[in-house]
Formats: sequence, C-alpha cells, structure tokens
Amino acid sequence: MNTNINYNLFYIFMPKIINNREECIECGLCWTTCPSYWERDGEDGRAKLRSVSLDKYEDGVYVLELSELGCNKDFQCPTNAIKVEE
Ligand code: SF4
Repeated sequence: MNTNINYNLFYIFMPKIINNREECIECGLCWTTCPSYWERDGEDGRAKLRSVSLDKYEDGVYVLELSELGCNKDFQCPTNAIKVEE
C-alpha cells in the first residue's frame, strides 16, 4: 500500500480568496460582515485583507489561500472585488 501523501494536491484544493482592489466600490459589506478578514483602508477607503499590507498586493490584487473560508462565506461582494474559489 502506498502511504505517501501528495501535498501538492492538498494545496490545489485549498479554497482561495482573490481580492482585486480596483473593483471595490467601498460599500462596506465585507468589513461589516467579516471584520476578522476585511478592513477599510484609511487612505483610499477600499477594502483590504486585514492581515496583508498593501505593498504585498500586485497591481491591486492579492490571492489568499485558506484551509477554511470562515465568514468569507457569509457575504457576496457586489462587484467581485472579492471572489471566493472553493
Ligand atoms: S464587499 Fe466588495 S465592493 Fe463592498 S467594500 Fe468589500 S470589496 Fe468593496
């Protein structure tokens, strides 16, 4: 019996959050529904991931892989500035 675990497959199937800040209309749904992940940036008013500094975003986009989506399942961004892939 082969007991080796292919950890690459584990990462392929991890859910992802894709945040494209250019698409944000500052409605506040994400940071009010899921404040443990999202906050309003004080400079431009758009949503950002609480745990990620803006200089980690590439061209306004950041992809975060998670083991669980948590409260990110509890809202749907109206402009797809936040997309969830499961
Ligand atoms: S829900 Fe979407 S549009 Fe509204 S503040 Fe969050 S990222 Fe921006």
